[in-house]
Amino acid sequence: MSSGKAFLIDTILCTACRGCQIACKQWNQLPATKTTNWGNMQNPKHLSYDTYKLVRFQEHNGPENKPVWYFFPDQCRHCLEPFCKDAVDGEVSGGILIDRQTGAVLFTNKLKGINPDDVLNACPFDIPKAQEKTGFLAKCTMCVDRVHNGLLPACVKTCPTGAMNFGDRDKMVKMGKRRLAEAKTRFPRATLTGLEDLRVFYLLADVPEKYYPYAEADLPPAGMDRKTALRKIGRSLRELAGELDLYS
Ligand code: SF4
Ligand code: SF4
Repeated sequence: MSSGKAFLIDTILCTACRGCQIACKQWNQLPATKTTNWGNMQNPKHLSYDTYKLVRFQEHNGPENKPVWYFFPDQCRHCLEPFCKDAVDGEVSGGILIDRQTGAVLFTNKLKGINPDDVLNACPFDIPKAQEKTGFLAKCTMCVDRVHNGLLPACVKTCPTGAMNFGDRDKMVKMGKRRLAEAKTRFPRATLTGLEDLRVFYLLADVPEKYYPYAEADLPPAGMDRKTALRKIGRSLRELAGELDLYS
């Protein structure tokens, strides 16, 4: 496989219009999600079986005690070595596949027989979600149907600000590094996540934990088997999210 494809999500340009969130629902023919006011403009509160993309909002105190908002369009990172796939490969062959052309990580109908917790606990980014009644799993598909036909993913096509970018992975790496260098002149703590092992890179103006507890996964501890380590990390991050009472 070539370098495949990747997203560069430049959160500095994101205005939280949520066009990407809606475009994802529209292309994938996903129903609207009933929501309640939980004291935050992020809506709905969580990713779900019917919501593959969610623009997260986080409010912080800025200079002179003025509020500043950090926006984080959350989605599957299409890991180069997907932790979810590691978790199910021993149980069901072909349950999770990698698209040769793009590198997209795709869930198949063969997952229907497995315990959904095996996949939910394996993802260090807390992405896949199970349907309440059936336990079936779903997440972002990278819009492979569109990409194989020469189109951009729906979220990228609709983004009006240049925050969502998509293309060959090596080109997105170069674009990300260039934008990071520019961002550093205004935001000294700016960072670019995911270059080593993911197909979704986030350009952030500040440290990842100020955006979302699962914005970045920790590396597995030395000497620990990778799969076990990642499962442990997934759980510890979940506990952290519970403590913050924001994303439980
Ligand atoms: S982000 Fe989670 S669901 Fe997506 S490929 Fe990686 S491990 Fe799998
Ligand atoms: S469409 Fe672009 S600007 Fe609007 S919320 Fe999504 S990433 Fe942000």
